[in-house]
Amino acid sequence: MNDDAKDKILAELARLYPDARPALHYKTPYELLVAVILSAQCTDERVNKVTAELFKLYDTPEKMLTLSQEELEKYIFSCGFYRNKAAHILSATRDIAEKFGGEVPADHAALKTLAGVGQKTANVVYAVAFGGNAIAVDTHVFRVSNRLGLAHANTPEKTETQLNAAIPEKLWSEAHHWLIYHGRRVCHSQRPDCPNCTLKGLCEFYAATNIDNNK
Ligand code: SF4
Repeated sequence: MNDDAKDKILAELARLYPDARPALHYKTPYELLVAVILSAQCTDERVNKVTAELFKLYDTPEKMLTLSQEELEKYIFSCGFYRNKAAHILSATRDIAEKFGGEVPADHAALKTLAGVGQKTANVVYAVAFGGNAIAVDTHVFRVSNRLGLAHANTPEKTETQLNAAIPEKLWSEAHHWLIYHGRRVCHSQRPDCPNCTLKGLCEFYAATNIDNNK
């Protein structure tokens, strides 16, 4: 894809989603970190319901560490993968308490040292809570960016590297939200709404398939 097409895609995404922002509810970097861990394979709406209850009593590392694994599992059960998620939350929280004085580190490299925190979670927290530049490649970002042709990769890691090269750094965090919005509203996993997509004239997937779900 040439630079002109990339610029047009980014401009159109910016036009479509000027108010794109995270759907997860949080008040502090710590709450965001917990919410992002819970959001794997789960809807943001479900996570927001769970954290609304959880954070009433356990909204800091100190308070969270009063919970046992089993007690935390009961709170987050409905988010799925609750055993792993509870373990990851408690591991990361212990690291925050023991290595970072009870504060979520604002540095990307430090975030990635937290137990249970992978690249995607670190990127979201770094970008959203601390205003850093990062593209977190979730399922929507992966699918939409590879369909459009902003990336040509078969893993989230390679997709992130290619998006970092294709998109100006100052737009990384916004582009992450734009691609999520487009994936949720138009470029669905199973039935992308290509006929009504304003990006179809620039999209490699559309050019290759000329898909028209209305026919
Ligand atoms: S044209 Fe279709 S595949 Fe391409 S971005 Fe739009 S909805 Fe997705």
